[in-house]
Amino acid sequence: MIFLFLLPEKFGELLSILWIAATIFLAITCALFFHFHSDIQLKRVVFRFLTIVYGCGYLMVGFMMMGASRWFLLFGSGVMLIIYFNLRHTEFCKACGKTTFERPFTNKVNCCIKCGAQLAQ
Ligand SMILES: [Zn+2]
Repeated sequence: MIFLFLLPEKFGELLSILWIAATIFLAITCALFFHFHSDIQLKRVVFRFLTIVYGCGYLMVGFMMMGASRWFLLFGSGVMLIIYFNLRHTEFCKACGKTTFERPFTNKVNCCIKCGAQLAQ
């Protein structure tokens, strides 16, 4: 019975289920971590690492699904743009540790939403 997972089509199915389960698990744990943890140096390091690693994971899955094609070029440039916007527009308040997300193409947020402290530019 366990050898069914070694067949290529079953292995792909198992891999996609694992990918979705890992995505949900990572989303829940990251939401809890970034909401409740107050060490902003650790938050910055973890945020940059997870953004880059998970973006590269999406590029890898996209390449596995689409191969080297025009659609992968479009998908990959979208993923790279999302990685850039996430790294560029996420700030952590030095006073209270709150994570602040800015929307791209709008005015820059200067102060923390929670405590009102000036954010680093
Ligand atoms: Zn704050």
